[in-house]
Amino acid sequence: MDEKRCILCNKPYNYKYEMFGRGCLDNLYNLLGFSKSPRIIWNKELNLCTKIAWKNHKFFLNKKKKYALAQKYIALTYLNMMNYEALNDIKEQISNDIKNIKMFSKNIVETISFSLNDIYKLFNYSQKFNEILKEIKKVIWEEVDEKVAEDFIKSLSFIFDETKKANPISYAVFYSMQYTFWQVVVVGGILTNMKLSARLLSNSLSIFGKEPRDMLIEDEETIKSILDSKAFKERIGKLIYKYGKEKDEFVVDNNEPIEDIVIRFEKNDLLFALHDATMLVKAKKDKENKWNFEIEINDIYDFTDFKDIKEYANVEDVITDIFSTLLNNLGVISSEYGVIKTYDLKIKFKTKEGEF
Ligand SMILES: [Zn+2]
Repeated sequence: MDEKRCILCNKPYNYKYEMFGRGCLDNLYNLLGFSKSPRIIWNKELNLCTKIAWKNHKFFLNKKKKYALAQKYIALTYLNMMNYEALNDIKEQISNDIKNIKMFSKNIVETISFSLNDIYKLFNYSQKFNEILKEIKKVIWEEVDEKVAEDFIKSLSFIFDETKKANPISYAVFYSMQYTFWQVVVVGGILTNMKLSARLLSNSLSIFGKEPRDMLIEDEETIKSILDSKAFKERIGKLIYKYGKEKDEFVVDNNEPIEDIVIRFEKNDLLFALHDATMLVKAKKDKENKWNFEIEINDIYDFTDFKDIKEYANVEDVITDIFSTLLNNLGVISSEYGVIKTYDLKIKFKTKEGEF
């Protein structure tokens, strides 16, 4: 005799029902808000399917249609409980398939196929994710030691499963969990004190199916931290020495040697934000014989670059370590999912000698 397996939880069962084990059937009555059927009803599974059909205003369906309808309706219920925007299209398709199950229709048309067990597993993943997320939200990242921080992030590593990309439903669910991870755990947590890095990562996170916009940065806070950095001061000094001797103006653009345009900052926020930036400089002396500068810093925001920042960063910093190792690997997977996207960014400002 064939072993029967519950189409929801996939556990074997030994009972007269065609789809569900007895435990799952009871749970479904609860989940769908149906009162328990009276004892007198012999086939509680068929009864559940009838109730579902009635709830959908469908009467006189044959048994095959009733059972098909029930599966779609249960799937839709689980997808609704996950509450991910990325699932909207899929939910609409299933809703349409439900609408098209009619008394007189010949066949059951399926625009999207799924297994109820897969959807049930996805629901359980998202429940687990939400539970862990609740704990992680309590972490104070500046105070936590590296081992603890790593363990927290590792406890969520199951959402970075590359094999889940292949199916549209699991793709949408894993996409949504990863999106939440970067937005809540990284932008809203780990990067709390690194404003520029948080802002750039935020811009890189694309809402399902949308492209990030290129970014122009001109705010005072970012510019001040650049002016205050050792890397900037040293570079300008070097450029004046090399290009400005006995001149009233000079330009350092992409035609100049790479070591005169590529810049790496020693401050961690700038370092995370700008990895392989180029800095173009237009310099001109004013009436008081002071150099005035027009600065343009360009970079491509790409998470995969994070891996070699460790050698430039302040390694005492726990966050730096996590970024250059663990988060970098997860970032690569999220890039493949299209959660994290690449874009161009530009920082523009004017300054003059004596201002930095
Ligand atoms: Zn079951």
